[in-house]
Amino acid sequence: MKWNLNEYYKNEKDWHGDLELLKLNVPKLAAFQGKLSNYNDFLAYFKLDEDTSKLFYRLYGYAHLASDLNLKDVEKASMNQQVMIVVSDLNQKTAWANPEILALGEEKVMDFLNKDPLLSPYIFPLKNLFRQQKHVLSEDQEKILANFSTTSGIPTNLYQSVSIVDAKNVDITLEDGKVITVTPSNYRSLIAESKSEVDRKNIFEAVFKRYQDNKTTFANIYNLVLQQKAAFYKSRNYNSALESALFGNNIPESVFHNLKDVAYENTASIKKYINLRKKYLGLKEYHTYDRFVPLSKDNTKYEYDTARTLFFDAIKGMDKEFVTMQHEALKDGYVDVDPQDGKRTGGYSMTLYGFHPYILLNHDKTLDSVFTLAHEAGHSAHSLFSNSTQPMPISRYTIFVAEIASTFNEHVLLDHLLKSVTSKDQKIQLLETAIDGIMGTFFRQTLFATYEFQASELVRNGAPINADVLSKIMIDLYKHYYDLDITKENGKQYVWAYIPHLFHTPFYVYQYATSYSASLKIYENVKSGAKDAFINYKSLLKSGGSDFPVNQAKKAGADLTNKETFMAVINRFNYLVNELEKTLTE
Ligand SMILES: [Zn+2]
Repeated sequence: MKWNLNEYYKNEKDWHGDLELLKLNVPKLAAFQGKLSNYNDFLAYFKLDEDTSKLFYRLYGYAHLASDLNLKDVEKASMNQQVMIVVSDLNQKTAWANPEILALGEEKVMDFLNKDPLLSPYIFPLKNLFRQQKHVLSEDQEKILANFSTTSGIPTNLYQSVSIVDAKNVDITLEDGKVITVTPSNYRSLIAESKSEVDRKNIFEAVFKRYQDNKTTFANIYNLVLQQKAAFYKSRNYNSALESALFGNNIPESVFHNLKDVAYENTASIKKYINLRKKYLGLKEYHTYDRFVPLSKDNTKYEYDTARTLFFDAIKGMDKEFVTMQHEALKDGYVDVDPQDGKRTGGYSMTLYGFHPYILLNHDKTLDSVFTLAHEAGHSAHSLFSNSTQPMPISRYTIFVAEIASTFNEHVLLDHLLKSVTSKDQKIQLLETAIDGIMGTFFRQTLFATYEFQASELVRNGAPINADVLSKIMIDLYKHYYDLDITKENGKQYVWAYIPHLFHTPFYVYQYATSYSASLKIYENVKSGAKDAFINYKSLLKSGGSDFPVNQAKKAGADLTNKETFMAVINRFNYLVNELEKTLTE
């Protein structure tokens, strides 16, 4: 089960030929500078820009996919770099385009766009460009801000140097005398496999030591992240860091607050789940890292063919067009299944307009890998729907809606497996996987988003930021969500330093929880036979990037400005925890 990349290129000579063509387009596009006020030039510019993008997709798609199959292949890595160099040159030489379009004025631009069907797909993206205009400053002010742009990536670099580059992995001696090296990437599986409470504690502390030892540095870096965001939102006339983060996708602030409040107000089942785990695992005291210890002893292996059959069985009987697209998504040649030396780890679905989506898996035959298959098939099917319905400029969907299509498939698969499972251990494993999915995607991400919100509010109100202040937020949130006192675990209160997303992409993680909530609400609508539920869901899949994500979700049946949508997750979670309780005591 390997990729067939012939759809992109049959030989590499053609790839190099196309790269030369791409290079030739750069000066051609640059030559339009100052000419866009003329309609014929405007039209010609957009046509050439579209052709250039298509050429880029072909070049980039091939180099990227081929390189991911073997990251050690220097030739492929260099192809990847070559195409990126041309694109960065192109971006620099066409940086004048958006300001020039904006200078034409919205009325004139819309008039142009309505003149030719080739241009009408640009109406939504260019309207959005004009919408963003209200936070663009005068030319002189923009110049001053641009002088600071090279400093924006510094917190990321600092974070990586302290947490990875300069950090030392710790060796510990296990109770049986064996010495092991603990790293942030292996500690979860080490804890999961360990039978000793003492070893688990030592493994956990070994990894969190770096955050504790460098707490002041991490707090100063995080303060820099917060202060940069504050300077940005004030300069660009937003009221808060949250408002500026949500503005790009036009997400109402109520969506963020609904999520934060519903999670905060509904933590009873989390505590019940933790108590069930504690009792079943026979622990005197429960620690945050005990969540990695599995309840189930089931170790059924799922071959790829079995996994695929399970997923196809799960969707059987659903909307015909939907089922066809899921099968198409997993067609031979478009899924690279097995782990292999040098292959990129993890899993993804990659799509570029004009080409079939490709799925990369590292199928390890666990139950998780069955869910990953369903998840990635969801992404690919979404792309197939979008790309076959929308023209290129509005085919690309945002991450906000992307995770709706993928997690929808996970809900379907879970219900199917719960119905067909026969052994008690398998049922426990299924319920645990589903519950941990909600714990990780919904509650944990929302806890982090709430932390981000509270920290940014401190800055907005002029309060100082230091390690103690940041830890206090986490201590309170963990107490409220899980009823766990994290000051009893060495280093855990510095969990704010452990999450890279908080440093690299502030106000990002909440989208995992919102997408998950939307997909569950849509799935509940489908299951309960609500009128047009599937037609509405397909309209989201087909709509690509032709609208703002919250509108797309709403039309599909999940209104995120309404708390009720988030309650779908809470209800599902309560149900699953009750089922687990029943199964464990059976
Ligand atoms: Zn995904």
